[in-house]
Amino acid sequence: MRYLITGGAGFIGSQFVRQTLASGGAEVVVLDNLSAGSRANLADVASQISLVVGDIAERAVYEQLGTGFDAIVHFAAETHVDRSITGPSAFVVSNVLGTGELLEYARRTAVPRLLMVSTDEVYGTIDEGSWTEDFPLAPRSPYSASKASADLLSLSYVSTFGMDISITRCTNNYGPYQLPEKLIPHFVSELKAGRTVPVYGDGSNIRDWLHVDDHCRGIRLALDKGKAGRVYNIGGGTELANLELTRMLLAAMGLGEERITYVTDRPGHDKRYSLDWSRAQRELGYEPQVSFESGLASTVQWYLDHPEWVAEARERAHALAGQQAS
Ligand code: NAD
Repeated sequence: MRYLITGGAGFIGSQFVRQTLASGGAEVVVLDNLSAGSRANLADVASQISLVVGDIAERAVYEQLGTGFDAIVHFAAETHVDRSITGPSAFVVSNVLGTGELLEYARRTAVPRLLMVSTDEVYGTIDEGSWTEDFPLAPRSPYSASKASADLLSLSYVSTFGMDISITRCTNNYGPYQLPEKLIPHFVSELKAGRTVPVYGDGSNIRDWLHVDDHCRGIRLALDKGKAGRVYNIGGGTELANLELTRMLLAAMGLGEERITYVTDRPGHDKRYSLDWSRAQRELGYEPQVSFESGLASTVQWYLDHPEWVAEARERAHALAGQQAS
């Protein structure tokens, strides 16, 4: 099988590349503009893949790719909610226009199968209960609105052009190689440097956490067994208030609550995300395998053990924040 993996140099995409190569018999081409992603995320598999550095929103990049892919797995996106508030345009370009150009490439070159990697944030916020895939889309940030647009564009290519595309919508991921603009790696590196960590509002916002390995297993199942035009929620079942998670991180690092600084809440901050992922269980045989306790402990340890990676990734996150705020 010959795969095109967009955003394969990022946090989740690079793990999916590793899992795909480990399963054997796969030829992998990664298309990534190395904005949030980096070569360092793929260092251990660099000799086994081809990396095309380019922007999914630029039509010319597809000429470099040629034809003949059996499947596309689409991770490439601008992903940080805070950056989507300070600089929304980049999110519209990469996530909406970029997905549009990718879909056109797939249609032109008759790629038989596509998997679009999306997020639970497209459903908005929910006080009680959990979203099934039939809930209406009600995104509330430029990030989630751009991802919802990409989902709808993808579904339109199923009904209009008969393409074989499925969508996965996942909860918050954690694990190694995540850019330290996101909560867990950011907090670990701040705590390690002796600083305090910023908790939005009163820390009561709830997220459902899933280890990146489980997410990638869910994506693989959806790619192999999913039906055209069908959406699959991929959940983890560990719902935690941000303050609870912060306390767990402090405990894992042997630190106390004096290291928390409460900061003004994010505008439009979604209160709670919660997914009903029973469709993926029923139709794909998906079950998360990594317990939150062991996954969090190994993740914290990974960041502590990779100071060079963290230092380089912090610079990348800093540069992105500067570019998009200007
Ligand atoms: P990430 O920022 O680490 O990875 C995104 C990758 O896409 C990066 O390597 C970046 O360089 C690349 N990219 C961005 N814009 C591009 C463009 N215009 N052209 C080419 N490459 C581009 O983020 P991630 O957390 O790995 O997210 C991957 C996907 O998973 C995204 O589509 C995201 O919406 C989705 N997702 C993430 C989470 C999460 O908790 N991290 C949860 C659910 C869904």
